[in-house]
Amino acid sequence: MTLVRQLVERLHAYVPGEQPRIAGLIKLNTNENPYPPAPQVLRAVKGAVDGRLRLYPNPTAQALRVKLARLHRCAPANLIVGNGSDELLALATRAFVEPGECVQYFVPSYSLYPVLSDIHGARRGPVPLCADFGIPSLKELRVGRRWQARAPLTFVTTPNAPSGRGYATDELRALCRAHRGVVVLDEAYADFATENAMALAGEFPHVLVSRTFSKAYSLCFQRVGYMVGHPALIAALDKVRDSYNVNGLGQIAALATLAALPFYRRNFRRIRETRDRLARQLSRLGFDVLPSEANFLLVRPPRFAAKVWLQRLRAKKILVRWFDQPAIADRLRFTVGTPREADALLRVARDILR
Ligand SMILES: *Cc1c(COP(=O)(O)O)cnc(C)c1O
Repeated sequence: MTLVRQLVERLHAYVPGEQPRIAGLIKLNTNENPYPPAPQVLRAVKGAVDGRLRLYPNPTAQALRVKLARLHRCAPANLIVGNGSDELLALATRAFVEPGECVQYFVPSYSLYPVLSDIHGARRGPVPLCADFGIPSLKELRVGRRWQARAPLTFVTTPNAPSGRGYATDELRALCRAHRGVVVLDEAYADFATENAMALAGEFPHVLVSRTFSKAYSLCFQRVGYMVGHPALIAALDKVRDSYNVNGLGQIAALATLAALPFYRRNFRRIRETRDRLARQLSRLGFDVLPSEANFLLVRPPRFAAKVWLQRLRAKKILVRWFDQPAIADRLRFTVGTPREADALLRVARDILR
């Protein structure tokens, strides 16, 4: 007799990038922000560490939802906050998909989606992107890409990960219009892009836009993300979440973050500048660099296989990400760090090539 469900026995769990604590390691593997949170965010969190820790936090992150609603020009009823946006992606499978039905997503994109589908006992619905990681035209999708307009849930990462490719709002609007099921636009990296599709959350009753404080707002540690959409979808997600899903210090940190947006906008600009310089310099070294609208670059390295580069960079204390997936196994993903980290990466790359 086995104590564990068959589905769980067979499950291939999501594999996160490693979080080693080794001195001197340059960590460019999980798209964390290289800059710390604003000083007032750190002060707010430190100032909240006292006897209040014995109390439950606000169950609906009310104060945060009110501020977010103002920021996105919607009502608090259009918003749900989660323990990171990953939690909300999982809740979407629970709220909108019957076990056995299809969870649809483009490939390659965020590798969590198939795992969420598996956990829920749903059917994986991968739809291949074009060779340049663009979204196929509606005509192409209808003709042969296994795409289903009626899939109850479709995830679209925009800008995409790990390619970094951005999609125009008009293109996403046409895609959303063609869908009958719920579409989640996963905008984890939208703050680094030139365009975002938040408007679509207000235009369609079946579209949710997902955002996170993790990447752009230097708050991975605190686990705060949110979704924006029609109150009926938000209410469904709200029903299936844990009552205290967002921890108190996370709520405080996120609120303080919203009061410091100019600080973060400076960081977005710095990261975009470093990204574009790193892309140019890597190209000169012979790397094939894809245009990126995010805080990372997907590159095909010269001379040696991607996996060999991964190991050689690691030996020189630079940690990057390699995905053992068909369309991208010949590439590496470099998170954009500080200018000094970019210089170190370039120096080590020249050494490896020498
Ligand atoms: C990092 C990431 C997330 C998850 O962010 P959290 O809010 O930290 O859970 C979601 N989607 C994509 C595409 C990501 O890269």
